[in-house]
Amino acid sequence: MGSDRRSFLKKALAGYAAAKGSMLFASAQNIPPYAKGARKPGKVDYKRIATEEAWGPPELFKMYIDLIENGALTDPGFVSMWGRFVRNTALIGQLQDIGEKRIRDMDAAGVDKMVLSLTAPGVQIFDAATANSLATSTNDQLAEAIKKHPDRFAGLAAVAPQDPRAAAKEMERGIRKLGLNGVIINSHTNGEYLDDPKYWEIFEAAQALDAAIYLHPQTPPPDMVMPYLARGFERAIMGFAHELSVHILGLMTVGVFDRFPKLKIVIGHGGEGLPYMLYRLDYMYENARYPFMKKVRKLPSDYMKENFYITTSGLPWAPAIMMARSVLGIDRILYAMDYPYEYVPEEVTLTDNFPMTAAEKKKLFQLNAEKVFKL
Ligand code: MN
Repeated sequence: MGSDRRSFLKKALAGYAAAKGSMLFASAQNIPPYAKGARKPGKVDYKRIATEEAWGPPELFKMYIDLIENGALTDPGFVSMWGRFVRNTALIGQLQDIGEKRIRDMDAAGVDKMVLSLTAPGVQIFDAATANSLATSTNDQLAEAIKKHPDRFAGLAAVAPQDPRAAAKEMERGIRKLGLNGVIINSHTNGEYLDDPKYWEIFEAAQALDAAIYLHPQTPPPDMVMPYLARGFERAIMGFAHELSVHILGLMTVGVFDRFPKLKIVIGHGGEGLPYMLYRLDYMYENARYPFMKKVRKLPSDYMKENFYITTSGLPWAPAIMMARSVLGIDRILYAMDYPYEYVPEEVTLTDNFPMTAAEKKKLFQLNAEKVFKL
């Protein structure tokens, strides 16, 4: 580990120590500016299906604490984020509950159904063997919870990219045997991205199963995180969007979607800013392309329109979502809340009030999710 890395890790650990006993993260108490004054959600004539909703079992958080406290970990972004989160008993309680308490929160927010996924970075921070067995056991637990409340919950299968063959198998088991509705991958795996062909067995399996992959962000990997960490930007404020944008552009520009043209990728947070940038991405990909970059068949905007779906998680903001609709079309946009990290019932009302037709809202909240995740 270089001395730079070591000093940033020290900083992250200091942040973790400072967070002990305090409540740095309080989702429900912090009403975002545009949601202030909004009404609580009322009755509507569509089902509200939220598609980026996090959960995690107690043993996962125990393992995170162990990773942080044994001092062997070399991922400062992880230490910074989970060092705080594991001390937030309210948040951990919400993440662990995939039963009655969560359903009460859903009722209070007018959410009919949640598509649950293992919270970031899920199993992707562990060694391959640990990650595989944890993916299996968490998928079993998730399937149990769905069986108890099939009208309220659906879920995505967690997989361990550390072992692509095992990941492909677990994906198949999760979907065919457990009846799960797609796949969750929490972006980079120990600093590696799925644009590396050694991971493409995962895409092959997803395409064969016609299973959508939800690509959820996480903190930037060690080689990227330092300037973010020094400024406190490594998490949802900006680090997530940048980290996942690199991943997404990487998939487009190495030809993943030429090789797997039917692959379906779902990304949250209004598409991590990418819909807004499509003109520039297309132009720069053609005109500022490095010689080492592969010549792929289509432009970034084409892949975005053919292989991607975006969700409204953490971005219940009409100007952004209407812009995305104008370039991607309403069929590519799904509703999501981002529970429990963002649990603000007033945001549901903001989304209900988007300037769209009734038919478009039914697609956004219900029909698109039913189609993409085969609910
Ligand atoms: Mn999320």
